[in-house]
Amino acid sequence: MEIPIPNSLSPSKVSSFTSCPLAFRLRSIDSLQEPRSPQALKGTLVHSALEGLFWSHPAGARSKDAARFELELAWSATVDDDDFKELGLSDESSSEFFFDAWALVQNYYLLEDPDAVHEIGVELGISIELSGTLLRGIIDRLDLDGDGNFVVVDYKTGRTPPQRFVGASLIGVHLYALMCEEILGRQPVEVRLLYLRDPVVLTTRPTAQSLRGHRRRTLAVWNAIERSCATGEFKPHRSPLCKACHFKPLCPEFGGTPPAPPPVT
Ligand code: SF4
Repeated sequence: MEIPIPNSLSPSKVSSFTSCPLAFRLRSIDSLQEPRSPQALKGTLVHSALEGLFWSHPAGARSKDAARFELELAWSATVDDDDFKELGLSDESSSEFFFDAWALVQNYYLLEDPDAVHEIGVELGISIELSGTLLRGIIDRLDLDGDGNFVVVDYKTGRTPPQRFVGASLIGVHLYALMCEEILGRQPVEVRLLYLRDPVVLTTRPTAQSLRGHRRRTLAVWNAIERSCATGEFKPHRSPLCKACHFKPLCPEFGGTPPAPPPVT
């Protein structure tokens, strides 16, 4: 059975299809809603605070007090969020949630000095056409280093991945580097993942060869998605990710049956 082809790809969709084609289909083609986890909500809260720190405070005024102000501003939106309300947290747990987010924001200051950062874009929405495919995403921050080179920065609120998964964790930012090169005409000299929990910075320096590899890989994933849409076959792929998968009740690996896909229009 033919299934509608998604009209764009993003680094997170590439990773979603690679991890489990069935979960990708249910999420990105059937558009089934998934409740956001407490971790995802906390990640959004911390990202919003850091975004506000750079948007609303010039270099020289990005103190921890400024970050705390931005976190409290973002917190007032979080507590009104339906997904947050559905967590049903007690006052005490809600307070723990906030202070854990504050600990992550404070850890950020152990990784870099925001007053020394020369950002040229924050929460930067970008898109390129890659051999007929629209690839789009949002870069947390795009900086200029001391020599005027581009640096892509991504904040992470989860734990640093084990060594064997580090390469996979960098795929998304490599795609952002590829998109920057297409749009701005120059490849970033560095991509940096700021893991706020540990806190640790993972850094990689893209090369023309590595970006060519990521371009090829992305196109290969897109071709695989097209093939799956033509045949209707999106196989489940059992992995440790199944533990937190919202689609488990619909997954044949766990005795479920996926719904009929939406019709091709
Ligand atoms: S439970 Fe596992 S195999 Fe099934 S859809 Fe989710 S991630 Fe894929």
